[in-house]
Amino acid sequence: MRPKNRESDRCPICGRHCSVYDRSSIIRSWRALDFAGILVYINAYTQRIRCPKHGVLVAAVPWAFHDSGFTKSFDLTATWMAENLSRSAVAEYLRIDWKTVARCITRARKYIEPDPGKRLDNLVNIGIDETSYRKGHKYITVIVNHDTNTVVWASNKHGKEIFSKFLESLTPEQRASIKVVTGDGARWIDQCIEEYLPNCARCVDSFHVVEWANEALDALRKEAWRDAHQELKELKKTVKRKRGRGALKDKDSIAVHKAEEKAAEIKGSAYALGKAPEHLTNKQETQLAEIAVSNKRLYRGYLLKEQLRLILHMDDADEAKEELDRFFWRATHSRIDEFKELGHKIRRHEEHILNTIRLKMSNARIESTNNKIKLIIRRAFGFRDVESMIDMIMLVCSNIKVPLPNRPIAEPEN
Ligand SMILES: [Zn+2]
Repeated sequence: MRPKNRESDRCPICGRHCSVYDRSSIIRSWRALDFAGILVYINAYTQRIRCPKHGVLVAAVPWAFHDSGFTKSFDLTATWMAENLSRSAVAEYLRIDWKTVARCITRARKYIEPDPGKRLDNLVNIGIDETSYRKGHKYITVIVNHDTNTVVWASNKHGKEIFSKFLESLTPEQRASIKVVTGDGARWIDQCIEEYLPNCARCVDSFHVVEWANEALDALRKEAWRDAHQELKELKKTVKRKRGRGALKDKDSIAVHKAEEKAAEIKGSAYALGKAPEHLTNKQETQLAEIAVSNKRLYRGYLLKEQLRLILHMDDADEAKEELDRFFWRATHSRIDEFKELGHKIRRHEEHILNTIRLKMSNARIESTNNKIKLIIRRAFGFRDVESMIDMIMLVCSNIKVPLPNRPIAEPEN
């Protein structure tokens, strides 16, 4: 191949027409999309140009992005596929490994969105969320625009430092337009808001609050299971001793059987306790009903969790405030340490929870964006460098459509 005259001798960075520095006699080749299952390469002589701004560089070719061993259509197709298909499907179909797909995505993103900073204009309701990957050893922080359900910024690591970095990267006008920040209960979010966004309302995502309650309930369940297990062990010991003395009675074996059932019931109830009642299966409903009878303490914890979950669904902030007061009283008088603690935690975050209800930061939408990001992170997991992971998150969690070669560009959905 040879570029047309008006497309040759251009700087690969600024696209400017430059003078030729030297011509090489080496043929370079680019991998193109397969033709009916046959590998296709494009071969061309390269030449170097001298750009007044960027110096001596290999001239750009119209069929490939700068520094790529693939054609533009290949890079874009790989990106489109990575958004829509599984890792193994993309790698197998294109006959490249997943790490190479990561590089295609990075190049494609630079082309599709040369100025990602535009996403930071006119933000109003934003959310900050951290997701761990590599089994919780590494973190990625994303900033979500709740009004468009898109990710506007992402970075590796997490914590105050990262959120400050984001807020510092904004212009004063960009900062001034932000009215609401949602996130989990971390204190450094409050500190950052105080420092950079003093006029902004702070909300706590409801799904985080439900998570706290579920954690408390799970700790309680484990405790109940340990107790039941201990009870069973001791019963078995007594039975063994009685059997040795020949004094074993029917009622002893029944007691053992009952204790066994109770322990198994608690062990198997994790899902039933954690789920919302409207999503329970018949079997799980039965499990719950059994716990209501056999383990009153655990069931009390369950009811407290459900009460909190219902408050978070309320529309009226004043009513919710009354209910939260009632919840606080019940939790702190529950004689269950986990829930006493939860009660105090909720009280500490009460203002933020009420903000969430007042400003109608709908949980369903926020949670679904959140789940989408987690899914993408899991798929991008094989990417070695974080940059590619971020590129993929930014592309997938946006309303930008990756154009397929030789097809009309679809309108972005909103
Ligand atoms: Zn240049």
